Amino acid sequence: MNLAHLLVRAARGGEDRPAVAHGSGIVATYGSLARRAACLAASLRGSFGLNPGDRVAIAMKNCPEYLEVLYGCWWAGLVPVPMNAKLHPKEFAFMLGHSDARLCFVTADLSAGIQGESADLGDLLEVIEVGSSSYRRLLRDDPMAPAECALDDLAWLFFTSGTTGRPKGAMITHRNLWTMTSCYFPNVDAVAPGDAIVYAAPMSHGAGLYSLPYMAQAALHVVPESGAFDPTEFIGLMGIHQGLGAFFAPTMIKRLIKHPSAGSAPIENFNTLVYGGGPMYLADLKQALKVFGNRFVQIYGQGESPMCITSLTRALHAESDHPAYEARLSSVGRAQMLVELRVADEEDRSLPNGEVGEVLVRGPSVIPGYWKDESATARTLRNGWLHTGDIGSLDEQGFLTLKDRSKDVIISGGTNIYPREVEETLLRHPDVAEVSVIGRPHPEWGEEVVAVVVPRSREPLSEEGLDRFCLEHIARFKRPKHYCFVETLPKNNYGKVLKTDLRALIL
Ligand code: AMP
Repeated sequence: MNLAHLLVRAARGGEDRPAVAHGSGIVATYGSLARRAACLAASLRGSFGLNPGDRVAIAMKNCPEYLEVLYGCWWAGLVPVPMNAKLHPKEFAFMLGHSDARLCFVTADLSAGIQGESADLGDLLEVIEVGSSSYRRLLRDDPMAPAECALDDLAWLFFTSGTTGRPKGAMITHRNLWTMTSCYFPNVDAVAPGDAIVYAAPMSHGAGLYSLPYMAQAALHVVPESGAFDPTEFIGLMGIHQGLGAFFAPTMIKRLIKHPSAGSAPIENFNTLVYGGGPMYLADLKQALKVFGNRFVQIYGQGESPMCITSLTRALHAESDHPAYEARLSSVGRAQMLVELRVADEEDRSLPNGEVGEVLVRGPSVIPGYWKDESATARTLRNGWLHTGDIGSLDEQGFLTLKDRSKDVIISGGTNIYPREVEETLLRHPDVAEVSVIGRPHPEWGEEVVAVVVPRSREPLSEEGLDRFCLEHIARFKRPKHYCFVETLPKNNYGKVLKTDLRALIL
């Protein structure tokens, strides 16, 4: 069953209902959104000759066309590969090549970089800039009927970096996303037809996935004119649209409540802020509740069980007289409706409540594996359970508290940064002998990247030089914000760097 069915159903329910707004102005009704997706689908299958299951990459910052491209791919039975618009052209090129993408839709800002890096990718037929004349031509084809899809067909190739430093493609199926959508209403938020979602966080990630429950209710999809998160603009949108909801990384909440006009924002138009993707600190959450009232829901998920492991509901955020209130606010809540959850030791044996171990997940939200990566699939999906790599404990009532991330991932501004990838980049610098990258707590971003470098010679190394080198190879947001220079790195008997010792030494 194809996810495009949600758009078909919404359009049948009322062609004239507003579907997409760009800032304050409505730019598409449900009738026109469905027609554009159907025409685009026909062009992709007809003019480009793509076959069901072929991958279509999306390197676009948030814009109104995002939804017609995403749902157009589903409509055609194709597999979108949404990529974070902040990545480096070389990183895009890797994902395009690894996924054997046949087409890549881009926004104008990313066009030149991607064209330059993808010239020798054999499978890639074309890079298409949304809004260009060639894009508009694609919308002139006769519409096609939505393609048939099996629940286990691939719906979204979600690139999530691994500790190996190379991004892995989590193979999200239609079933996984139907499951996420079904769990949304009982466990995350109720959405009514007149409500609206604002895409302030990247649509290539959780925010875009959450278009599905809003599509299910034929609600309004609002794309900020900036295409990103700007607290002033966001507060302005609260004065324009009704029944607003949004998905935020915890750091975005922090920036929003610090805004000088946060206290006078028209919050009566604002229903729900769903947050997740990284740790939310208790003091910040309490402050947010004070400023915006009981409008928060937390979710915990990962690309391997998209947006769908646990949730901490609005009601639980309000139960301030409960004896375990603070412990609950510090948790990520309870398993969502279609998710089985347990905490286990290294042998996968369930641990008693209160004991800390790896979080394991089972259910129809869990991906069948990683794209062309059997060993990562076997490692992560062992014994019928998803091994999340997150460490936590459960209490008697099933509340899960995350303690640490076994994968050493650094989460800065809600975005994952994998130390190994940064380390591998720096190790290519001729003057770097050894390096280890760790996260350091940061009041605004959650964590910031610190590189501990052993220089190759006694000559002092220039931080600016290393910074320039990183900018040439990886996305700007991944590069270290600080460098420490040491003579040796602390290591165990097997030669593995002891990051815990390093943190103690440096932070
Ligand atoms: P991704 O696959 O990029 O969505 O990253 C998923 C990872 O982000 C999870 O495995 C967790 O480590 C972290 N994460 C997601 N949601 C939360 C949350 N609510 N609290 C703390 N960490 C989270």
